[in-house]
Amino acid sequence: MQTFTGVGVSPGRIIGPIRQMPHPISEPASGERLPEGVTAEEATAALKSAAKAVHDGLKARSETVSGDGKAVLEATALMATDTMLLKAAAKLIGRGTSSERAIWEAGASVAEMLHNLGGYMAERAADVLDVRSRIVAELRGVPAPGIPASATPFILVAEDLAPADTATLDPETILALVTAGGGPQSHTAIIARSLGLPAVVAATGVDQLPDGAEVYVDGAAGTITAEPDESQRAAAAAWSATASLLAAFDGTGTTADGHLVPLLANVGGAKDAAAAAALNAQGVGLFRTEFCFLERDTEPSVEEQAAAYKGVFDAFPGKKVVLRTLDAGADKPLPFLTDATEPNPALGVRGYRTDFTTPGVLERQLQAVALAEKESEADVWVMAPMISTAEEAARFASLCAEAGVKTPGVMVEVPSAALTAEAILREVSFASLGTNDLTQYAMAADRQLGPLAALNTPWQPAVLRLVGLTVEGSAAEGHSKPVGVCGEAAADPALAVVLTGLGVSTLSMTARSLAAVATVLKTVTLSEAQELAKLALSASSATEARAWVREKLPVLEELGL
Ligand code: PEP
Ligand code: MG
Repeated sequence: MQTFTGVGVSPGRIIGPIRQMPHPISEPASGERLPEGVTAEEATAALKSAAKAVHDGLKARSETVSGDGKAVLEATALMATDTMLLKAAAKLIGRGTSSERAIWEAGASVAEMLHNLGGYMAERAADVLDVRSRIVAELRGVPAPGIPASATPFILVAEDLAPADTATLDPETILALVTAGGGPQSHTAIIARSLGLPAVVAATGVDQLPDGAEVYVDGAAGTITAEPDESQRAAAAAWSATASLLAAFDGTGTTADGHLVPLLANVGGAKDAAAAAALNAQGVGLFRTEFCFLERDTEPSVEEQAAAYKGVFDAFPGKKVVLRTLDAGADKPLPFLTDATEPNPALGVRGYRTDFTTPGVLERQLQAVALAEKESEADVWVMAPMISTAEEAARFASLCAEAGVKTPGVMVEVPSAALTAEAILREVSFASLGTNDLTQYAMAADRQLGPLAALNTPWQPAVLRLVGLTVEGSAAEGHSKPVGVCGEAAADPALAVVLTGLGVSTLSMTARSLAAVATVLKTVTLSEAQELAKLALSASSATEARAWVREKLPVLEELGL
């Protein structure tokens, strides 16, 4: 029995076969020529048969799924044998270019052409780029890129997942997520929680397991065990029984003694918002607007943005929706805002800072928000990501006022913002703690790096102190402004209790975590939560803080959380 240890980021105990996520397809070298002895006719024939194989594979897959997924797969299958694409590649092969390079370049020019046509055609550009990678994989005889297709459920093992992978992740066939890299605040963790899948990140060595190997995943303990034994089979069976014991969220976040802590949802678009409303979220605490435009390489128009935002607002009439302006950069690049060649993207021009280098985009986004707000009944609040100083907060507030956005706020995710919260909160109406980035910057540990996972946890007493300082700043003499948490820390039921004890006023999380957080919060009074916060602050390490608090909350073990 071989056990791999990582960091558990989404609870659940499950057994199943694994499938490894193939590595992305590398670009064939520019100028790559046909190999010696291969004629252009032979290379073109090989390309056509690779394209047909890709077409047939995608078509067969489309027959096994329904809804949106089916339509996407059918459209992509057709693209694989598109005459314009293959003719353009054949022309290049005729000039001596290798078939891999030829389809790569042809794909790029067809994608650009589609893109320039705009509208529906522009959306197909991403399909062409997907198809060209699949054809290159077929020509090279390596697995197709992206999440593997499977008719039977499996545990997905990857180096790490990007936000864009969510679109192709089918929660019906994926049992759990395991990554060799990534950290507890990485997007894999965020995706796993939002889909309610057990997940372990930073489990070194799991990428060596062969496809099909049966493993036991414990998403709370952070372990993956090959060749599970009887006790692990029993634990997996017990989990599927207890998971359904967790009562659904009734729509009121409160402690045992009635101290209200509204529980809100983190969403990336209208679909998430509808799902969150169905799970009784009390509103939206973080609308990641960049998630609406991850595939775009040009700025979306004001009208297009307004339609996307209204889709979220309409799911919560009369309720609070906190929209975050585009947080482009680092792990969420948007080609129209970020520079892919920056040496240190996490410390670079990202979030609010893109306004320094690409002025105008923020103003237009605020106009779109105001437009959408006018046509909806939601109580819209708007915050800027990556604010570091009170001057930035003041400028953001004045841009909001100019656009007619009534409730401006900031994310506190840079330590300087936590340390100067009082001055910052004089300028705006509220703050929301982004504990994912606050942790990465407080600990100087890239949130995407597996080897730094132990540093990268919001249980770090240093991070909890920054949370406490922000709350203190918000209640300083002369003003009192609400401070919520919208980082992943809010989705951890034990940490949610600590954050409540530290004085945060709302908790925003993936909608799937609402029930667990609400259930645990209801078992403590406010003063007990304050005691647990003091206990966590007095710990000398993150491990100690977590263990001490968990020990005082036996309900966690009872529910397998
Ligand atoms: C955060 O940093 O905690 C946060 C909520 O923003 P994101 O995860 O999108 O960077
Ligand atoms: Mg952030």
